[in-house]
Amino acid sequence: MINQRVHLYSSEALGRYGFPEGHPLGEDRQGAFLRAARERGIDKNVNIKAAPPAQRAEIERFHSPSYVERVLRAEVDRVEFLDEGDTPVFPGVYTAASNVVGAALDGLASIMAGACRRTFQPIGGLHHGRRGGAAGFCVFNDLGVVIETLRAVHGVRRVAYVDIDVHHGDGVFYAYEEDADLIFADVHEDGQFLYPGTGHAQESGIGAARGTKLNIPLPPGAGDHSFAEAWERVIAHLRAFEPRFVIFQCGADGIEGDPLAHLRYSTQVHAQAARSLCHLADEFAGGRLMAFGGGGYNRYNLAEAWCNVVRELVNC
Ligand SMILES: [Zn+2]
Repeated sequence: MINQRVHLYSSEALGRYGFPEGHPLGEDRQGAFLRAARERGIDKNVNIKAAPPAQRAEIERFHSPSYVERVLRAEVDRVEFLDEGDTPVFPGVYTAASNVVGAALDGLASIMAGACRRTFQPIGGLHHGRRGGAAGFCVFNDLGVVIETLRAVHGVRRVAYVDIDVHHGDGVFYAYEEDADLIFADVHEDGQFLYPGTGHAQESGIGAARGTKLNIPLPPGAGDHSFAEAWERVIAHLRAFEPRFVIFQCGADGIEGDPLAHLRYSTQVHAQAARSLCHLADEFAGGRLMAFGGGGYNRYNLAEAWCNVVRELVNC
């Protein structure tokens, strides 16, 4: 019997994944979400969980050992940035990044053990992280580690990865571009206008994986109507492959008023997407769905959007 409750991963340790000195991904994002969740009583309907950091061997299911070593030594070696300037080293960076992955793995283990059906982790969904390096505020790619762990530990191969963060999920996309069992769908602002510049509509997978990836770039200024049209295509794409597990990166930076991007969604987009992915997970994946906060730099927006997501995970 599966416990129907949702696990919400939130802890002081997780909140410390954030960059200092006015960086858009600051340490205050988790708190902004939690305050809103408590005001709405959402915290009463979920199990709030903390988890230990991921072990190095777990992180290396996705990342190269040399990159993990580089992060581990970054403070000692006085490295300033882990990439070309977006992702600075901060005190405790290795531990903080390992905590993000650890929470994701605990959530995955809980779902696979039947201790819960769905999880939400506000500080997570670090979709720009590459196997061999950091990028775009993302040190370790928790999503990639979950995908590798699903396969290596749980024998689940056909996984849906769905990303509505305003930025293209390039760290996941390129790691699985040739993987026919990673069913990918990503709605984002057109890379002509926004980091990381990728995610063209023609990028649909390579070789045997051709057709398993769906990228939908939207022009600056696009809002709920454009999203709804794109979302119909996303759901049709996912349904065609009958995925056995659903991963949802629900970045809140596509909402109108985000300081880093130019789309104009309302927070209803997040409710709609979460609701229909829950139904999809129920139909094909035994309800198994993990949602991750991803980006979002306007604190009001991220709080509203993520509350909408959790409410749907609880009610659907
Ligand atoms: Zn983003």
